[in-house]
Amino acid sequence: MRYRFNWRRNTISSSVGGDEIRLDEGRWRAESYGPGYRKAAEANAGDMKGKFMATIAVIGAGIVGASCALFLQRDGHEVVLIDPEEPGTKTSYGNACSISAASIMPTATPGITRKIPGMLMDPAGPLNIRWRYLPRLAPFLLALLRNTTPERSEANGEAIANLVDGVMPAYATLLKDAGVESMVRRQGSLKVFRTEASFNASRRERDLMTKHGFSFDVLNSDELRQLEPGLRPMFERAIYTPDSATAVNPGRMVLEFTKTLIANGGSLLQEKALGFEVAHGKVTAVRTTGAVLGVDNVVLAAGPWSRELAKDLGASLRLDAERGYHVMLKMPETPIRRFVLFADEKFVLVPHEDGLRLTSGVEYAKVDAPPDYRRIRNMIALAAGVVPDLDQSEQSIWCGNRPTLPDSVPVIDRSPRYANAFLAFGHSHLGLTLGPVTGRIIADLVAGRDTGLDLSPYRALDR
Ligand SMILES: Cc1cc2nc3c(=O)[nH]c(=O)nc-3n(C[C@H](O)[C@H](O)[C@H](O)COP(=O)(O)OP(=O)(O)OC[C@H]3O[C@@H](n4cnc5c(N)ncnc54)[C@H](O)[C@@H]3O)c2cc1C
Repeated sequence: MRYRFNWRRNTISSSVGGDEIRLDEGRWRAESYGPGYRKAAEANAGDMKGKFMATIAVIGAGIVGASCALFLQRDGHEVVLIDPEEPGTKTSYGNACSISAASIMPTATPGITRKIPGMLMDPAGPLNIRWRYLPRLAPFLLALLRNTTPERSEANGEAIANLVDGVMPAYATLLKDAGVESMVRRQGSLKVFRTEASFNASRRERDLMTKHGFSFDVLNSDELRQLEPGLRPMFERAIYTPDSATAVNPGRMVLEFTKTLIANGGSLLQEKALGFEVAHGKVTAVRTTGAVLGVDNVVLAAGPWSRELAKDLGASLRLDAERGYHVMLKMPETPIRRFVLFADEKFVLVPHEDGLRLTSGVEYAKVDAPPDYRRIRNMIALAAGVVPDLDQSEQSIWCGNRPTLPDSVPVIDRSPRYANAFLAFGHSHLGLTLGPVTGRIIADLVAGRDTGLDLSPYRALDR
């Protein structure tokens, strides 16, 4: 027998009789995590121990999971979001805040293999590999190399581009539902170049944007100065994408989305998902550290931690972590107004509600390897070279894991093995951008609606 647990009404009902038992405090341990937050660490009600029911369980409360949860709730489902951590505190917390209307270049591009040795040799460079991790990483790197042909790279860029049309409408829906429209600012984004030669090297990227109809302007140094007076006048060219936006604080935004889920009757189960119970070709329950959650459907959106659970759902994927770092600095007197990618220096500066965020780097290492902050700290001096009067004192420092497949294309698919299980992870450098549109697509898949997209590039097989 399974039991359906309703956090809002604080009741539990059996799936057989349907009669509701009101739970008094103490029979279930429910801890408060601020307004609307509860923890179902342990069900302690006789033979009901640890068993309750959700229509849909979403595993992972990052931008992808929270977006899936909200779109599913909009369709009328009872949703339980499962995460042992506070929502929005992992990869979705520390990124470069960009909701990009134009970055569709995958990591694997035709010239990349020639550039990699130089990047690896440079101790202040943007790429690092922890060599001890190489044996485990080798299949990922070989698959990445296979994706560097012009045909593959172009197809991967196209798969990403096809998601971009849905980005802003999906964001508008979630921001409005959560009442936090002001958390995303549409001020465009910039990529700046020191020399005409480095600008010319971006031709492929511009061709791809033109091909997909993304609008952008090429600026000279005077035009750039008008947009970003806080930069030293040392950049010859810039690409300005007016339709891009920045989240003022991505971690807090995910938290706001989760609060909305709960305010509208959903739940947050603060536990780790360990595996699944299955019967007759379907997932019947999610096993967590403290409970067995009976489900009608399950969505796996655990970012870089999705690999093993995905295997249990029939999807063996080369999901790995491209780690990245940030440091928070004080915002200079003449503020940086929007996301700026420095093409030659290989870092990003972006305004955040807590100051100026400097992000950089790709590091291949185990997800739980201790962070190595040396490279990102080296970048602070480089940032002072492009922003006059930058206070170089470090306010905070962070390391996170981009969930990445060798083709840089996310998995958005039904499980190959269980018809009621769905997969949504692997958003790599663009998870903040693509999280909400992924949520919309997953809700369409669950509902059996036409997604309006060819979903084959996002399949959960052979990747
Ligand atoms: C330095 C850096 C800069 C970036 N800049 C940008 C940018 O500007 N724009 C952009 O679009 N993207 C950017 N990204 C990428 C983006 O941040 C990620 O793609 C995105 O946050 C991934 O979201 P997610 O929800 O899949 O993963 P996460 O945010 O990591 O969420 C996964 C959640 O799953 C939970 N979880 C794990 N295991 C379990 C389990 N067993 N049971 C339950 N829960 C579990 C975790 O606790 C976590 O909360 C950047 C990334 C980095 C590192």
